[in-house]
Amino acid sequence: MLQQTTVVTVAAYFDRFMARWPDVSSLAESSLDEVLHQWQGLGYYARARNLRACARAVVERHGGAFPDDIAELRALPGIGDYTAAAIAAIAFDRREAAVDGNVERVVARLFAVREAMPAAKPRLRTLARELVPEWRAGDFAQAMMDLGATICTPRKPRCVLCPWQKDCAARAGGFAEDLPVPAEKPERPLRQGVVFWLQRGDGAVLLRRREERGLLGGMIEVPSTPWREAAWNDAEALIHAPANVTWTKLPGTVHHGFTHFPLDLTILAATAGSPPNLSWGIWARPEQFKDYAFPTLTKKIVKHALSVLPAAFLLDP
Ligand code: SF4
Repeated sequence: MLQQTTVVTVAAYFDRFMARWPDVSSLAESSLDEVLHQWQGLGYYARARNLRACARAVVERHGGAFPDDIAELRALPGIGDYTAAAIAAIAFDRREAAVDGNVERVVARLFAVREAMPAAKPRLRTLARELVPEWRAGDFAQAMMDLGATICTPRKPRCVLCPWQKDCAARAGGFAEDLPVPAEKPERPLRQGVVFWLQRGDGAVLLRRREERGLLGGMIEVPSTPWREAAWNDAEALIHAPANVTWTKLPGTVHHGFTHFPLDLTILAATAGSPPNLSWGIWARPEQFKDYAFPTLTKKIVKHALSVLPAAFLLDP
């Protein structure tokens, strides 16, 4: 839960999650929908899907107990190098180095590694491993995390409080704040899409579930065109429309920032006197939306649509 997310945001979610699924077995028996629902608003939903998939794998492959071997940990869903090393070190006291951004920063400064990121990563990992002591690898891993998070901070590191101040090459050279050398920022080109807000005579709106894999996998959305970097003209967009009806463009756009790209969506709205015969889709009235796992993007679309739709539109049979 703490990946890319602050403790303050996570705390309440963690408590609710642990109260509902206090162990691996109960999480393994949960439904994906329930888990996504509990995760609603926390973002990065792949974490929720992976947590549940991981719990199931731990039950199926390891009888409900986490393995202590780094290769077996690494083979579990959602567990990468960092998490595998952190579990092995902290939970099982294995001599492994959990290397995240904070630890990379400490090591880059300690050894004055001037190579730019991400090319410097393998070297930083090797150096970090060499630092791990024979004993209390778990305490060491947590001490490194805390040192990076609270003392060896990106700006103004508090070197006078650092246990490594005498050994630190970057401190001695007076260039600690310059390390690690950052990677060049990738471009984040804007993507665009058109959302189709289709409403039945009883007020129910057409929704759909996204594919399990990929961005917002398994979450509920209002149907739309794919998202792309070029703008959509009406004729192109309508090929993706769920019904052959008269669409009205709603004023304004919905903006959302994903990690890798910003997204602008326009909304076309229509009523369907006789609803289309679809092999997919969920019809739900706005007051039922709370029963579904909506990611923030869908919530923004719903909020925007409901704020600009003419009142009469909602009642139009
Ligand atoms: Fe970081 Fe300063 Fe400690 Fe070096 S001495 S590891 S720069 S806090």
